[in-house]
Amino acid sequence: MEKRLVLEAGWVLPMDAKLDVIRNGAVAIEGNQIVEVGPAGDVIGDEIRRFPRHVLLPGIVNAHTHVAGAIFRGQLEDRPDNFYGYAMPMEKHLDADAIHVLSRLGIAELLLSGCTTMNDMFHHAAETAHAAAEAGIRAQIAHKTYDVDLPGIGQGRRDYSPERGERKLGQNVELYEKWNGAADGRIEVRFGAHAADTCSPGLHREIVTEARKRGAGIHTHVAQGRSEHEYLRDRYGQSSVRFLEDNGVLGRSTVAVHLLYADTGDVEILRRTETPAAHCPGNVIKSSGMLGPMSEVYAAGLRVGWGTDWVTMDPWDAMRAGISGLRLQTNDHLALSAREALRLSTSGSADALGLADRVGSLEPGKRADLILVDIDQPHLAPLADPFGVLVYNASGRDVTHVMVDGAFLVADRRLAYADTSELIRDAELAATRVWAAGRVS
Ligand SMILES: [Zn+2]
Repeated sequence: MEKRLVLEAGWVLPMDAKLDVIRNGAVAIEGNQIVEVGPAGDVIGDEIRRFPRHVLLPGIVNAHTHVAGAIFRGQLEDRPDNFYGYAMPMEKHLDADAIHVLSRLGIAELLLSGCTTMNDMFHHAAETAHAAAEAGIRAQIAHKTYDVDLPGIGQGRRDYSPERGERKLGQNVELYEKWNGAADGRIEVRFGAHAADTCSPGLHREIVTEARKRGAGIHTHVAQGRSEHEYLRDRYGQSSVRFLEDNGVLGRSTVAVHLLYADTGDVEILRRTETPAAHCPGNVIKSSGMLGPMSEVYAAGLRVGWGTDWVTMDPWDAMRAGISGLRLQTNDHLALSAREALRLSTSGSADALGLADRVGSLEPGKRADLILVDIDQPHLAPLADPFGVLVYNASGRDVTHVMVDGAFLVADRRLAYADTSELIRDAELAATRVWAAGRVS
């Protein structure tokens, strides 16, 4: 018989369909599974740990990340040419070693903030998969695949190289062969079609073929930039969404990220193709001053997950940005609630990533991915409604314990698997090297 661990907490938010609060609740765990959720006292076990001044809830499922993109923290937000002019030329100098240590840093940030699942796409993705396996986080990982000359876009050129596309796609296939299903199934591999305009139509079709052949999902940025929007309109007379549909990219297992320039017709295409969307409000508001047609996306009933993208990976900041952004955009102070923002960040994201049967809520039969938030702090007291108090006031630093697959990866705000200072030092050394190599004026 597997040992049965019971976690009791002052407040339990199961985030199941009812969105209830269990005052003085408990969750029983056997191995990597949740076996019972209910009032404390009714749930019995071999070992009981009590957290009377904590809220217990499912781990945040982060629907879109580039964990190694932490290297650009604080450097992009105020630049006019932040993406193609600064980040892309610098990315050329990110070697495998740099991606490894920067991924370790980004994953530590995610875990310490309460994220238990990430959906990542970047260069040298095998290094990110390796870092995810070392840490124990649940991860969907894609290799950043494209055939355009990325820095060239910043200079107004779109040069596509079939050789580059083949090489990148080959690396995603290798990533799949080596890592899909690894780390006790915590790691899954998607195919990373970087963006609508950074892959030629031919490369999009090849990516779809390779992904479908393996039953793998696709992860892609869609309608994320003005130059992408204008290029596809001028070259193909199509929106990004329409262009991707024509090339077979959309569907239930494709996560479409950002959608900033999508219009009503595009939302209808996503609904018809049952394509889930990932929304990263904290980042898109800062880096583009836009939110995208989120009211229409919610109204259309798409599966929607929330993510953080790169540079700032605190999901609590993203939740506030997602609510405030929508309220500002719609002039409606009741647009989206705290309850809904937390649902989108947990069970909503899990559904968008095709993980609803495993994570996103605390229910018997699901994996034991959960977090504890310390509410015994001035900015979180007094606590009447845990949804409102957490979503409008909490930050990653309030998360004290993080469990993934039945194992505590964070305990008392400390990483259980690594020395945080060492991990920061390694990332700084690598970042300094990359900055020196990629310095742009
Ligand atoms: Zn992104």
